[in-house]
Amino acid sequence: MKYATFSLPSDPRPRLGAVQGDRIVDVPSFATLLDLIDAGPPAWKRTADQFRSAPSGGHPVKDVRLHAPIPRPRKNVFCLGLNYVSHMKESSAARGREAKIPAVPVIFSKAPTTVAGPYDPVPWDRAATEQVDYEAELGVIVGVGGKNITRAKALRHVFGYTAINDVSARDAQLKHMQWFKGKSLDGFCPMGPLVVTADEFGDPQNKRLQLRLNGETRQDANTKDMIFPVDVIIEWLSRGMTIEAGDVIATGTPQGVGLGRTPPEYMNDGDVMETEVEGIGVLRNRLEALK
Ligand code: MG
Repeated sequence: MKYATFSLPSDPRPRLGAVQGDRIVDVPSFATLLDLIDAGPPAWKRTADQFRSAPSGGHPVKDVRLHAPIPRPRKNVFCLGLNYVSHMKESSAARGREAKIPAVPVIFSKAPTTVAGPYDPVPWDRAATEQVDYEAELGVIVGVGGKNITRAKALRHVFGYTAINDVSARDAQLKHMQWFKGKSLDGFCPMGPLVVTADEFGDPQNKRLQLRLNGETRQDANTKDMIFPVDVIIEWLSRGMTIEAGDVIATGTPQGVGLGRTPPEYMNDGDVMETEVEGIGVLRNRLEALK
């Protein structure tokens, strides 16, 4: 199943929809995607059965506004840093550090206020940063919470997958000596356009991941190259720390960010980032300097 959060020109309140081809159908039993996720696996199955067999109806996707699938997560978005060897190397080189594969996942977070829709502009507050960069990532939506989850059982805790652009203020990351601030500026986490449920998405470690900047390919990799795959990420993240239904995990970015270019190249006002994850779709976000 594919789910999206959408609104109509005549009714700007976001609601939950099931995406069937180029149409989106209301899911009236749940007001939001979080409500559906919270209802648990039996409700997911009932809803999927209902919409798989439903006659087409609803609205053409092109006529609705798509929002982030979870417009306001209940807590910070969990993020993996340096989770592709290629990006770990470019990032270490740019910072003048020794390239070393991390022994355990590097985990940080982004504030919930970063979350933006799949086609929303990303606001650029020049008082906060002069070095805005992109990071295409596979996003994981936790479906069933837990603690000390084993790798073998980890993927059973996943509701579905989405695309994330972990927009980053490189100067703020460095200046504050900790990534949280530079990763948490308003609107710095475009997400969507859909959530594809785990059963339909299949193996999360074999998906192409791309980022195009103004139409030029900057990142083009495969999730099979993650240092810590999704099941291992969940095992580590949940060690001694409860993860909950509706939690979002950004699984790290591959090579090709602006920081890794020689010399580093950051974005300009009006630049358009297209983040694409195979099987999910494309985020298209324009960087817009605040006046
Ligand atoms: Mg990232």
